[in-house]
Amino acid sequence: MSQSRLVVLAAVAALIAAFFAFDLGRYFSFELFRSQQAAIDAYYRARPLASAGIFFAIYVAVTGLSLPGAALMTLVAGAIFGLLWGTVMVSFASSIGATLAFLASRLVFRDSIQRRFGDNLKAIDAGVEKDGAFYLFALRLVPAFPFFVINLVMGLTPIRTRTFYWVSQLGMLAGTLVYVNAGTQIARLESPGGILSPGLIISFTLLGIFPLIAKWIVEAVRAQRVYARWPRPGRFEQNVVVIGAGSAGLVSAYIAAAVKAKVALIEKHRMGGDCLNTGCVPSKALIKSARLLSQIRRAAEFGIKSASADFDFADVMERVQRVIRAVEPHDSAERYAALGVQCIEGEAKITSPWTVEVKSAQSTRTLTTRAIVIAAGARPFVPPIPGIEEVGYVTSDTVWELRRLPKRLLVLGGGPIGCELTQCFARFGSQVAQVEMLPRLLIREDPEISAMVLKRFREEGINVLLSHKAKEFRIENGEKILVCEHGGSDVRIAFDQLLCAVGRIANTRGYGLEELGIPVAKTRTVETNEYLQTIYPNIYACGDVAGPYQFTHTASHQAWYAAVNALFGGFRKFKADYSVIPWATFTDPEVARVGLNETEAKEKSIAYEVTTYALDDLDRAIADGEAHGVVKVLTRPGTDRILGVTLVGEHAGDLIVEYIAAMRHGIGLNKILGTIHIYPTLAEANKYAAGAWKRAHAPGKVLGWVERYHAWMRG
Ligand SMILES: Cc1cc2nc3c(=O)[nH]c(=O)nc-3n(C[C@H](O)[C@H](O)[C@H](O)COP(=O)(O)OP(=O)(O)OC[C@H]3O[C@@H](n4cnc5c(N)ncnc54)[C@H](O)[C@@H]3O)c2cc1C
Repeated sequence: MSQSRLVVLAAVAALIAAFFAFDLGRYFSFELFRSQQAAIDAYYRARPLASAGIFFAIYVAVTGLSLPGAALMTLVAGAIFGLLWGTVMVSFASSIGATLAFLASRLVFRDSIQRRFGDNLKAIDAGVEKDGAFYLFALRLVPAFPFFVINLVMGLTPIRTRTFYWVSQLGMLAGTLVYVNAGTQIARLESPGGILSPGLIISFTLLGIFPLIAKWIVEAVRAQRVYARWPRPGRFEQNVVVIGAGSAGLVSAYIAAAVKAKVALIEKHRMGGDCLNTGCVPSKALIKSARLLSQIRRAAEFGIKSASADFDFADVMERVQRVIRAVEPHDSAERYAALGVQCIEGEAKITSPWTVEVKSAQSTRTLTTRAIVIAAGARPFVPPIPGIEEVGYVTSDTVWELRRLPKRLLVLGGGPIGCELTQCFARFGSQVAQVEMLPRLLIREDPEISAMVLKRFREEGINVLLSHKAKEFRIENGEKILVCEHGGSDVRIAFDQLLCAVGRIANTRGYGLEELGIPVAKTRTVETNEYLQTIYPNIYACGDVAGPYQFTHTASHQAWYAAVNALFGGFRKFKADYSVIPWATFTDPEVARVGLNETEAKEKSIAYEVTTYALDDLDRAIADGEAHGVVKVLTRPGTDRILGVTLVGEHAGDLIVEYIAAMRHGIGLNKILGTIHIYPTLAEANKYAAGAWKRAHAPGKVLGWVERYHAWMRG
């Protein structure tokens, strides 16, 4: 560190140390001021300039050294100097003090911080260079961050000193005025009854609502900045236009129509989106057929000498289509039109924050709208592995077109979609090799949960290859080959059909986001705030396109927030609540989860206790021949409050609902234990898990006394 820096650091440290060593903070108390107010007033009247100078110097020192007391001094300024002069003095003194603290922080710390964290700070620095003045203005206006923290942190950024000074002075002016004004009222407080004087009440109300007003101003300024380059229509045809008629879009449109808004729902492909056409519905229909086959094969276990199934894979896939057709009316344009939604077939493109262009085979039209909800979904991600295009592949979008069962199927991916489809095809009779780069299937679940699924997969003859990284696809002598890297050497897998299931990425291109400058987050989803607003406050995103979850139920959950905020956000906005998010993977055994699992609790350093109940002990599971699986509950230590539950076994996705409701409504394990569960059901597992927790927390001492009481009663 250079000499000048050392001197500044030493001087600042010495002054701060002196402040605390001599307990100078005791002079910054409101009581002391009140007790000395008459003397201070007299001194001010006798020597106004000297008093102003002394006050100014102390204020600059306090703020420059980042000492506590500035807020009190601002009130005192009002009390001594009145509204006008108090505001002028505090405004200049606080800006000068803040700039001194800013300069000290820059001089002492900036270079070393840049040296150590320069790469990580690049994005922040670039942002500050572009928009620093606005951010500083917002921080100054909304007093959510401590004054001294802003000074010190800003010193580490590339913002210019001049800019820092004037933006600080301007940004703090309104807050200063409100505080000084409150100070003028306090000065007039003669008796406890004065607390109820209208002046004081108004001043304190202003003090309380100021942060809200300031936040509102910042939002308005921010909105003004993004909207500036777009012409705003004089009137709007629609209250809201929804792009995409999948789970998120359908629910958004439904809610808008239910509250009598004029809503247009635009779909370029098929109503119902992924869930109905290529996701949840077909996959669950396929799982049902595969499961039936697996049960027929287990006939002897159930006392049936012989049972066999003769089937044609094409018929199974046709049934899947029949199921889709049966569910289709729920998501149809006719149904939504009857509900009051204007359903439009065509490709939507956002052309301005208030206009959406819709292109269909017949025509192109533009809709004007007050708000837009983007619900454009996601698509399968196909990794750029050399040779993948040459060998060809199906994804969760196209697998439903297969009519011939692949003899040797290679499934790339060990996530929920990969696992569900792997098990189905294996049960139909394909030889399935499932390749996963990570060391476990279902990596989001706890290791022993993944292990349960893995065990069953291997028992069913699936060739699960973990920690295998796909390197290259080849065609050798007409045979398709995947070359994987595993433990430092190459592994070759021959196959007939590749199913690529390595994840899904949000649809963020080609419908106007680029032109409007709506950013895409690191997760490759549309960037939104907690209200699901994009940088344009009237454009919202929900469902797979917004993340962070990719489920139908989270898409519809978010849709409620997007629709309600889009229509009524002017009055009140709601933050999307992700506190209790459940999901299930419909393999056999099923894996369902809500809240935290053990891995996440450890990662987040959250204290927890684990209670498990194994389903092999459950009467109904034994009777059904499905005596396997577990209920694993995490609770907050010393309480019955549930942090999370993982359930593995038959109908886990249904059984977990009791825990979802419990978590959502703050019900603990004691209440679950106190609830009558029907005998014999699988749902009893939930109660037994609660019972296991209760036994582990039995009050040993009390029971000792009770035992003695019984012994005494026996005489
Ligand atoms: C095989 C599989 C199984 C699944 N199983 C489950 C499950 O069991 N449970 C579960 O909860 N989730 C499951 N999912 C996930 C679930 O399907 C998705 O999370 C859900 O469909 C997301 O809904 P969405 O509305 O966000 O998007 P989508 O359903 O993808 O809808 C987006 C719609 O927007 C349309 N669109 C896009 N761009 C435009 C444009 N410019 N103009 C007009 N229209 C446009 C698309 O055509 C599409 O119809 C599964 C997914 C797959 C692939």
